[in-house]
Amino acid sequence: MALLEYENLSIALPGMARPVLDGIDLTVSAGEIVALVGESGSGKSVTARSALGLFPTGADIDGHVRVDGTEVVGAGPAALRSIRTGTASMIFQDPRAGINPVRRIGDFLTEALRVSNGWDKGRANARAAELLAAVGLPDPERHLRQYPYELSGGMLQRVMIAGALTAGPRLLLCDEPTTALDVSTQAEIMAVLGRLQRERDLGMLLITHDIELAAAVCDRIYVMYAGRIVETAPTAQLFGTPRHPYTAGLLGSSPPLRAPDGPPARLVPIPGSPMGLLDSAPGCSFAARCRSARPGVCDRTAPRLERHGEALVACHLAEESLTSMDNTATREG
Ligand code: SF4
Ligand code: MG
Repeated sequence: MALLEYENLSIALPGMARPVLDGIDLTVSAGEIVALVGESGSGKSVTARSALGLFPTGADIDGHVRVDGTEVVGAGPAALRSIRTGTASMIFQDPRAGINPVRRIGDFLTEALRVSNGWDKGRANARAAELLAAVGLPDPERHLRQYPYELSGGMLQRVMIAGALTAGPRLLLCDEPTTALDVSTQAEIMAVLGRLQRERDLGMLLITHDIELAAAVCDRIYVMYAGRIVETAPTAQLFGTPRHPYTAGLLGSSPPLRAPDGPPARLVPIPGSPMGLLDSAPGCSFAARCRSARPGVCDRTAPRLERHGEALVACHLAEESLTSMDNTATREG
């Protein structure tokens, strides 16, 4: 059984021209790191938050989300509490947004331990110090007495990771966990997350707009566009043979993972902008930006996710080699 399973999850908001999420199917197993990649506004965060039952207010929800077999859609407060304070935890982009600036780090970390376990202050403090050491902070005892403003963004993100581990979750949802940090700190935080994931055999869903970051750490990648999964495949295959023009475009618009011998490839962003919630298209939602779009086909019918080898791809031309040609063309290195 998958630790996290989305089955045909759709979320619609009143007054919008297209759904926020449209038929999402996605799984994460124990011990697996899975990435959900796409531009901002594609529905990645909504997908991640759904796993904790954090749905947009007023939304019409259809389909299923299961965390360790427990249904989240329509779940009551007790089931949601047991998921949020037990099985699953979430790490957000901006650590400063998730922590009360006038409370000490120790109070932030021990509150959950004391409330849910009934532990006294000493025991909760000892456990919090252990967790701070586990995320690689140098002086746990001192950090427990500090206030958030005394810590750098990278240190504070480590505190948030420690906080996410207090209940011993089996699933970690990471929503752009390094985006707000400088480049060298980003690598450190990813290394901490990777180590904890291995040590604790966690299932992890990594939300990112950075497909190279996803490739460096993930077993499988899902690519999302305008509320739909447009391609999913094991990482090596997605990189070797991107079949969806949008995936190829994301690869073309990311810096290369390893520097080639020659000059670095130029960044070529995908032209046009993502489809907003007030736009809809009868055919493929990527058609307006797609260099491979075929008039009369792509603008008429929406492509469905279909299997091509190990990949699932939603593109009418997935069998043709157009996407890999497109990818080479946009690299212009
Ligand atoms: Fe491009 Fe057509 Fe494929 Fe959509 S279905 S991604 S428009 S080729
Ligand atoms: Mg987001």
